[in-house]
Amino acid sequence: MPEGDAVYRTAARLRGALDGQVLTRSEFRVPRHATADLTGRSVLETVSRGKHLLTRVEGGLTVHTHLRMDGSWQVTAPGRRVAGGDQVRLILANARCQAVGVRLGMVDLLRTADEGRVVGHLGPDLLGLDWDPVEAVRRLRRDPDTTIGEALLDQRNLAGIGTIYRAETLFLRGIWPWRRVGDIEDLDGVVTLAQRLLDANKRHAGTVTTGDRRPANQTWVYGRAGRPCRRCGTRISRGEMGAHAQERLVLWCGGCQPR
Ligand SMILES: [Zn+2]
Repeated sequence: MPEGDAVYRTAARLRGALDGQVLTRSEFRVPRHATADLTGRSVLETVSRGKHLLTRVEGGLTVHTHLRMDGSWQVTAPGRRVAGGDQVRLILANARCQAVGVRLGMVDLLRTADEGRVVGHLGPDLLGLDWDPVEAVRRLRRDPDTTIGEALLDQRNLAGIGTIYRAETLFLRGIWPWRRVGDIEDLDGVVTLAQRLLDANKRHAGTVTTGDRRPANQTWVYGRAGRPCRRCGTRISRGEMGAHAQERLVLWCGGCQPR
């Protein structure tokens, strides 16, 4: 699942393709907006908020998209066929290029003035200009009995973390994912590190948290279940956490992150 850094890069690509250009084609292949037509309008900008994308269009409209599990935006020359054709959910094109949204988990069209309705619940955006670690910690502390692992994925606390950054951040802070939020003194250290990791990865594909870009060496625990910890040699554990039917993958080192 794309995390905040991947969504940030996607927003940058959409800005390069669409900003300031008049739309010559718009196709919403979702039932709710099948008749919407933005042709003739200029695209103002695309911004990311956590894992959400907001493409603002002339006339006070915003296209809201979310990649969810495996969605993507592909930018190509106009008219070029895109892989996964029957999974295309949205096409926005101008004379220069086209942006094709494939397998998007959400496609919505709303008034720009109403953006708060779809992103207003989000906590501070780890990659936003208005990133606010104090506010993120305050939100985390609201529910001291929840586990830190679940709290970090709850986008209402802070926006942008998925399973990769959760696993890597908690490993680097030596925190067992099931520890209660209320039992962690240095939450500021947790959110500050998560922000640094996302920020360090926002301009290139892939996730490197070890500082070593070689493919097999990029992470501490994510993708390394059953293999020896790079620090202590303990086999990396793998499990799931979260409410029933919403469990998400979690990886940790029992040696470096004791109960
Ligand atoms: Zn270890």
